[in-house]
Amino acid sequence: MSHCCETMSKQIEHQCDKHPDEFDCPDHLVSYSERFDEYGLIVHDGGSSCIAIKFCPWCGTKLPESKRDRWFDELEALGYENPFTEDIPSKYKTGEWYLA
Ligand SMILES: [Zn+2]
Ligand SMILES: [Zn+2]
Repeated sequence: MSHCCETMSKQIEHQCDKHPDEFDCPDHLVSYSERFDEYGLIVHDGGSSCIAIKFCPWCGTKLPESKRDRWFDELEALGYENPFTEDIPSKYKTGEWYLA
Protein backbone atom coordinates (compact mmCIF):
# COMPACT_ATOMS: atom_id res chain seq x y z
CA MET A 1 0.00 0.00 0.00
CA SER A 2 1.48 3.32 -1.01
CA HIS A 3 0.26 6.73 0.06
CA CYS A 4 0.67 10.18 -1.46
CA CYS A 5 3.81 11.17 0.43
CA GLU A 6 6.29 10.05 3.04
CA THR A 7 4.69 12.03 5.86
CA MET A 8 1.33 10.45 5.18
CA SER A 9 2.84 6.96 5.07
CA LYS A 10 4.67 7.60 8.33
CA GLN A 11 1.51 8.86 9.98
CA ILE A 12 -0.52 5.87 8.90
CA GLU A 13 2.15 3.32 9.75
CA HIS A 14 2.95 5.09 13.02
CA GLN A 15 3.02 2.70 15.93
CA CYS A 16 3.52 3.60 19.51
CA ASP A 17 4.60 1.37 22.39
CA LYS A 18 2.42 3.19 24.88
CA HIS A 19 -0.78 3.19 22.86
CA PRO A 20 -1.64 -0.02 21.03
CA ASP A 21 -4.86 1.60 19.83
CA GLU A 22 -4.16 4.44 17.40
CA PHE A 23 -7.13 6.37 18.77
CA ASP A 24 -5.46 6.55 22.18
CA CYS A 25 -2.23 8.01 20.88
CA PRO A 26 -2.05 11.81 20.68
CA ASP A 27 0.81 11.51 18.19
CA HIS A 28 -1.30 9.56 15.75
CA LEU A 29 -3.09 12.03 13.51
CA VAL A 30 -4.40 10.14 10.53
CA SER A 31 -6.24 6.87 10.28
CA TYR A 32 -6.54 5.00 7.01
CA SER A 33 -9.29 2.51 6.40
CA GLU A 34 -8.20 0.16 3.67
CA ARG A 35 -11.58 -1.48 3.16
CA PHE A 36 -13.18 1.91 2.42
CA ASP A 37 -10.05 3.54 0.92
CA GLU A 38 -10.78 6.36 3.30
CA TYR A 39 -8.49 8.77 5.12
CA GLY A 40 -9.56 10.46 8.32
CA LEU A 41 -8.17 12.84 10.91
CA ILE A 42 -8.43 11.29 14.33
CA VAL A 43 -10.42 13.34 16.80
CA HIS A 44 -8.75 12.86 20.15
CA ASP A 45 -11.78 13.25 22.34
CA GLY A 46 -11.45 9.87 24.01
CA GLY A 47 -13.68 8.11 21.50
CA SER A 48 -12.94 6.73 18.09
CA SER A 49 -14.23 9.43 15.80
CA CYS A 50 -12.58 10.56 12.63
CA ILE A 51 -13.09 13.44 10.25
CA ALA A 52 -12.85 12.28 6.66
CA ILE A 53 -10.32 14.28 4.67
CA LYS A 54 -10.22 14.79 0.92
CA PHE A 55 -6.74 16.25 0.59
CA CYS A 56 -3.46 15.34 2.22
CA PRO A 57 -2.70 17.91 4.95
CA TRP A 58 1.04 17.69 4.18
CA CYS A 59 1.44 17.53 0.40
CA GLY A 60 -2.00 18.67 -0.76
CA THR A 61 -2.60 15.67 -3.01
CA LYS A 62 -6.22 14.89 -3.68
CA LEU A 63 -6.98 11.68 -1.85
CA PRO A 64 -9.10 8.91 -3.35
CA GLU A 65 -12.84 9.15 -3.08
CA SER A 66 -14.13 7.11 -0.16
CA LYS A 67 -15.57 3.77 -1.30
CA ARG A 68 -17.75 3.40 1.77
CA ASP A 69 -21.04 3.74 -0.14
CA ARG A 70 -19.92 1.32 -2.84
CA TRP A 71 -18.87 -1.15 -0.17
CA PHE A 72 -22.34 -1.12 1.37
CA ASP A 73 -24.00 -1.27 -2.08
CA GLU A 74 -21.98 -4.27 -3.21
CA LEU A 75 -22.53 -6.17 0.01
CA GLU A 76 -26.21 -5.37 -0.05
CA ALA A 77 -26.38 -6.72 -3.60
CA LEU A 78 -24.82 -9.92 -2.26
CA GLY A 79 -27.52 -10.15 0.39
CA TYR A 80 -25.72 -8.74 3.43
CA GLU A 81 -27.84 -6.26 5.30
CA ASN A 82 -25.61 -5.74 8.32
CA PRO A 83 -22.09 -6.15 6.96
CA PHE A 84 -20.47 -5.10 10.25
CA THR A 85 -22.06 -7.95 12.15
CA GLU A 86 -22.42 -10.55 9.39
CA ASP A 87 -19.74 -12.90 8.17
CA ILE A 88 -18.82 -11.12 4.94
CA PRO A 89 -16.40 -12.46 2.31
CA SER A 90 -12.83 -11.82 3.46
CA LYS A 91 -11.97 -9.64 0.47
CA TYR A 92 -14.42 -7.05 1.80
CA LYS A 93 -12.46 -6.80 5.03
CA THR A 94 -9.44 -5.40 3.22
CA GLY A 95 -8.85 -3.38 0.06
CA GLU A 96 -8.95 -6.52 -2.04
CA TRP A 97 -12.53 -6.04 -3.22
CA TYR A 98 -11.72 -2.89 -5.20
CA LEU A 99 -8.05 -3.57 -5.97
CA ALA A 100 -8.69 -6.89 -7.68
ZN1 LIG B 1 0.64 13.58 1.10
ZN1 LIG C 1 1.42 7.14 21.65
